[in-house]
Amino acid sequence: MIHEVDVQALDTTRLIEVIGPERTTKFAESAAIARSVLGNRRVINVNSTATGGGGAELLQTLLAYVRDLGIDAAWFVIEGNTEFFAITKRIHNHLYGAAGDGGLLGPDQRAVYEATLAPNADELLAVVQPEDIVMLHDPQTAGLVGAVKSAGAHVVWRCHVGRDRPNEFTETGWGFLRPDLEDVDAFVFTRDEFAPSWVDRDRLSVITSSIDPLSAKNEPLTPTRVQAILQYVGLLDGNSKLGATTYRRRDGSPGRVDRRVDILQTGPPPPADAPLVVQVSRWDVMKDMEGVLHAFANHVDRRFGAHLMLAGPNVQGVTDDPEGGMVLDRCNAAWRALPEIARTRIHLACVPMHDPDEAAIIVNALQRHATVVTQKSVAEGFGLTVVEAMWKHRPIVATRVGGIVDQIDDGVHGPLVDDPDDLAGFADRINRLLADPAFAETLGTNAYERAHQEFL
Ligand code: UDP
Repeated sequence: MIHEVDVQALDTTRLIEVIGPERTTKFAESAAIARSVLGNRRVINVNSTATGGGGAELLQTLLAYVRDLGIDAAWFVIEGNTEFFAITKRIHNHLYGAAGDGGLLGPDQRAVYEATLAPNADELLAVVQPEDIVMLHDPQTAGLVGAVKSAGAHVVWRCHVGRDRPNEFTETGWGFLRPDLEDVDAFVFTRDEFAPSWVDRDRLSVITSSIDPLSAKNEPLTPTRVQAILQYVGLLDGNSKLGATTYRRRDGSPGRVDRRVDILQTGPPPPADAPLVVQVSRWDVMKDMEGVLHAFANHVDRRFGAHLMLAGPNVQGVTDDPEGGMVLDRCNAAWRALPEIARTRIHLACVPMHDPDEAAIIVNALQRHATVVTQKSVAEGFGLTVVEAMWKHRPIVATRVGGIVDQIDDGVHGPLVDDPDDLAGFADRINRLLADPAFAETLGTNAYERAHQEFL
């Protein structure tokens, strides 16, 4: 039922080269405090997927480093069936202020939710000791609070999603979760505004997400290697040299990209020298990949010769996201309906997720190759994809929603678009960056500096 994700400890001293001595000292001091406060307690994280999405990405990074600091941290993934994940996806969409699949969140859904979590709770209690700290992530695990409390452990609920202003859907979503969350010892939200009014502010911490600058997703890559990796997997036109697709795995061992990316396109992939607009996102309505497709097809000036790459995970790779296949199908259908001239410039890619490090290096290469990165979310907790692009010196065109406003200052790190439905406005910002590489570079440099200071 529940399974443990193996996270190898990562040597924290290697971060010194990136964050410098002053921040390293602060980091070591914080670690010492954490160790003495925690004593022999274990920190047990529980979520609903080991791969795909920001939550899983974050846990990999944080657990690897805290384990190196001598903190006993573990990560377990719950199991659920399609019906359960349809309900939790509905809650997730509601917390973003959207109807999702339009289904109910009533007593029947509550019964399925509880029945699914009960056997997960039994198994979890076999590993939880009194006084342990159990960090439950997102709506999928909120129903475990009571069981974990009954074992005498402390419960933190960390929520990676939310919406600044409540609406009828957020109210319904929070109404579903609230009975479980009343007894939580501490809450962690990405933004203060995301926490519903009944969350006791004394128990609330706001912690933004962060990236590992040295992981396969973010490690430096030369342009030659970027090109070789993208050509090998089929995301760029041309042939790569044998052996040029090697990289360093998370645990430091060598890896080599072996799998190809599934790509929907007519004709060849983008030429290596063509400007490339990239959005990397799960196939989720909230990421509006379809909107990027239409904005690009209808409003990005063809004279730039730019191509668009919409890249998401292979939909089998994200077990807790039942809508991925449906969103991908809709994007595929929208692509097929485009005129031939647009189709040749727009590419839909599904990155294989079997090997997380291999998937990460492919995304890394794609983000580094991008001329412009977009994040056209309708709602966003805190876009890790945004930070990843910032770290890679990319200018970002994004919507002014959720946590993105804490990441990007309009006109400093990239342009922000107020209305997610304003496709012409969105494309106009892309056009401006394509037309003015020097401006794009300035924004990219600013973005890198902010990521370096605040989001590592
Ligand atoms: N991601 C990935 N492959 C994909 C799509 C996304 O590795 O095909 C990663 C992406 O690089 C980022 C995370 O998934 O690290 C997405 O996190 P974000 O906070 O942007 O959004 P979420 O998916 O959590 O809503």
